[in-house]
Amino acid sequence: MSSLQPVRGTHDLMFDDMRRHRHIEAVALEIAGRYGYGEIATPVFEFTEVFTRTLGDTSDIVTKEMYTFTTKGGESITLRPEGTAGVARAFITGGLAQQTPLKFFYRGPMFRHERPQKGRQRQFHQIGAELIGVAGPQADVEVIALAAHILKELKVAGTITLQLNSLGDVESRLAYRDVLVKYLSERRDQLSEESRARLERNPLRVLDSKDPGDQAAIKDAPRFTQYLNEASTTFFREVQDGLTALDIAFTLNPSLVRGLDYYSHTAFEFTTDALGAQGTVLAGGRYDGLIKDMGGPQTPGIGWAAGIERLSMLLSDLAPAKRPLAVIPVGAAEERPAELLTAELRRAGFSVDLGYGGNMGKRMKRANKVSAIAALILGEDEVKNGVVTLRNLDSGEQSSVPRTELMAQLKPFA
Ligand code: ATP
Ligand code: MG
Repeated sequence: MSSLQPVRGTHDLMFDDMRRHRHIEAVALEIAGRYGYGEIATPVFEFTEVFTRTLGDTSDIVTKEMYTFTTKGGESITLRPEGTAGVARAFITGGLAQQTPLKFFYRGPMFRHERPQKGRQRQFHQIGAELIGVAGPQADVEVIALAAHILKELKVAGTITLQLNSLGDVESRLAYRDVLVKYLSERRDQLSEESRARLERNPLRVLDSKDPGDQAAIKDAPRFTQYLNEASTTFFREVQDGLTALDIAFTLNPSLVRGLDYYSHTAFEFTTDALGAQGTVLAGGRYDGLIKDMGGPQTPGIGWAAGIERLSMLLSDLAPAKRPLAVIPVGAAEERPAELLTAELRRAGFSVDLGYGGNMGKRMKRANKVSAIAALILGEDEVKNGVVTLRNLDSGEQSSVPRTELMAQLKPFA
């Protein structure tokens, strides 16, 4: 029955996957805290306009990937495809303009209707950071340093390189746009249909194309850096100097333009060869025009987002979860005392597994299955004498421990 399948491109996260997911979030949150970022959770859905106005109506996300629906009240709502627009909306509706600089960290599900494949889901999860209200290149350096720090702390940095480009300010972008349109127009027949459409509406985006024909046509296109005006060149130089000073290696990538309309100056991606075609794990850039475009006060911003699923694929195995104790009643009469002992141990902070039935052998098997570190066996004699048989499940060592000493004896297993 199709309605009992998960929707294509969505996944149930459980146990080990969920632990990896949480680990990535927890590490990122902790490191972001050191840089002064506070957490924000914006709604999972917004008025569609929040995204169409910010992402630009030529972006892939807006033209193809959004989950948009009309509510019973006739409002057009969209499941968020990314985090920045919601944060910018929250900044404006919260009237936070007087409180800048502001640093936001977020995490959560995003939704894009695209073709599912390895590292590409329709519901996926991101961690992300936004620094709002700082116009200077120190912000770019710090935001990138935060990203690099998180990747390093997650121990995934080994396979990842930082790609860097500048999209310049508005003046530079317009100048470059003209040159690029001229160049691409002369090679129109070589371009894919999609790129031909982009050439009309948003030519810079052609540089972002993954189509092999397009890539060949783009290869010798004029480079953005040649058309940066002086202010933009200086800005870009300062970003690079700042990164170099912090020992953050980068590769200049003139065709890195990012898929969204609102970027200016710094654009960056952390990419890997380890994930096939879905090689971008973290991407971001400066968005000085975004908040104004949305109807807020002119406010610069810069941020990034990383896909948790992609990071998770790069993560090596986590340390095993804390091993529980197993409480094992020998017969029916000991069930209740075993429940009470279990409750007492859990209140004391231990993680305890209480098999839910079966004979002693079956319960021992269960204890092994949950990797219990020790078994606490309660039989008739134990209950009568106020003791517990404590068996170390690794060494097999066993001893009879008076209940009064139990907590002290269990310390090594805590
Ligand atoms: P791509 O080029 O892979 O489509 P993008 O440019 O659309 O990526 P961004 O919008 O910059 O991606 O999102 C930031 C990060 O979120 C990506 O680098 C990636 O790690 C992750 N991401 C984006 N889309 C998906 C998806 N559909 N499934 C899983 N992760 C995704
Ligand atoms: Mg995409």
